[in-house]
Amino acid sequence: MPRVAFYTRISTDEDHQKFSLDAQKDRLEAFCKSQYGDDWALHKLFRDTESGTHMNRPGLEEMLFDAEARAFDVLLVFRVDRLSRKVRELALMVDELTKFGVTLKSITEPFDTSNAAGKMMLQMLGVFAEFEHATIVERTRVGLERKAKTGSYVGGNVPYGYRLDDDKRLVIHEEEALIVRKMFTMYALGREGASTICNKLNDAGLRNRNGRKWGRRVVLYMLKNPVYVGKIRWREVEYQGNHDPIVSDVLFEKAREVLDDRHDDLKGRQWHNGDERLLSGVIKCGLCNAHMFGGGGQKNGRYIPYYVCSKRFNDHACKQDYVRAELLESAIIQDIKAMFRDEEFMARVWEEANRKLGTEKPDVEKEIARVEAEAAKVRASIERYFEAFEAGTLKAELCNQKVADLHGRLEALETEKRDLEARRERLELPAIDREMLAALVDNFEEVLAAGPVPQKKHLLHRLVKKVLIHDRRTVEVWYALPNARRFEDWHKKLPE
Ligand SMILES: [Zn+2]
Repeated sequence: MPRVAFYTRISTDEDHQKFSLDAQKDRLEAFCKSQYGDDWALHKLFRDTESGTHMNRPGLEEMLFDAEARAFDVLLVFRVDRLSRKVRELALMVDELTKFGVTLKSITEPFDTSNAAGKMMLQMLGVFAEFEHATIVERTRVGLERKAKTGSYVGGNVPYGYRLDDDKRLVIHEEEALIVRKMFTMYALGREGASTICNKLNDAGLRNRNGRKWGRRVVLYMLKNPVYVGKIRWREVEYQGNHDPIVSDVLFEKAREVLDDRHDDLKGRQWHNGDERLLSGVIKCGLCNAHMFGGGGQKNGRYIPYYVCSKRFNDHACKQDYVRAELLESAIIQDIKAMFRDEEFMARVWEEANRKLGTEKPDVEKEIARVEAEAAKVRASIERYFEAFEAGTLKAELCNQKVADLHGRLEALETEKRDLEARRERLELPAIDREMLAALVDNFEEVLAAGPVPQKKHLLHRLVKKVLIHDRRTVEVWYALPNARRFEDWHKKLPE
């Protein structure tokens, strides 16, 4: 039975602090259950609330102490940057943990450190993380999930039929709720189709919240939305909400049965599972700058997934082509692999990473100088107490007391100095070589071949920051590499 330790940390600059620690813990527990069932034991939850730039992290110290005592087997974190934002520091820590037989696992990142390639990947992602400041989104999302679990409204469009009160809670909008009930009744009991429902509503002069006519897809989406039976859906998981339902469970279930019968559900869902495509979130239309999302359709009896401009899809207000999703994704993955294999390119990336790390050096030097100066002052004070004692102006007892205090202070300063010096040493990356890059490509491929979609997506989004579609054949990709902007933008031709 694996003994698992959790390590959580939040920095003081995070917005959703209140949620974050609890949210992290919930997720860690859920991950263990999915991995080990009931066959695991929680050794301890280590936590720090200090920001990553502070040296002093008691939770981390304690964790390393327990690791050395071989008190647990797996260290589970929400993200590896919880442990350290500094690449080298992280790599050293992983080495140390490995020595003590501890495997590091991250629940949001697609690797563990039980194999060499996993460690390499970690280091590589660490390099990218150094340059990434866009982590706020992720953190906010954790907070949102927590909110969903407690039944609170998580933001986004307020569902038709509801409005928000002053405390941002969902309350029923009576007029709209009437229409919602009508839809469910017509569909589930009247056996009327979604298009017929739209026509009837539109003919009766009823409009949606934007003042537009009702559309079939919107209606289908609403019929599937569990918010109407008092639930909150967050990332495909339903939670009990704390708002009032608009329709009864029975009516809702009935509607769902009819949906299943007619396969309306399937047709509708193709357009609403955009999140599950690898590039959604980073892919944008180069013509109108709107987001593109994943969809699909049947062609010669085969399901063809593609990305579509949301403006084109919603309002027909853009002429952007549909882009074949699998082709685009595999083109980008091929390109990333080619980059990893390009030794010269990676050497330049590494050099730039080293240079950026190097910019931290002066700060560390300054800190070291400050600590040294303070230590000198403390030594001078000790000297003065001894002089006073010798001159007979200070009693032995008091002198001892004062000197003991100052010695304690001096020791603390010396520890701090040693830490800083160690930090200075870590501000350099190890040499990058062919073997390391080969291992990296292997690991990248392994993750993309075997990982579940959310993990693949996570990995890819660490590397790909923006995909701009100019037309069906011309795509611009922005990678999260430190010196990517020094080179030409990545234009590429897509296969037909
Ligand atoms: Zn567009």
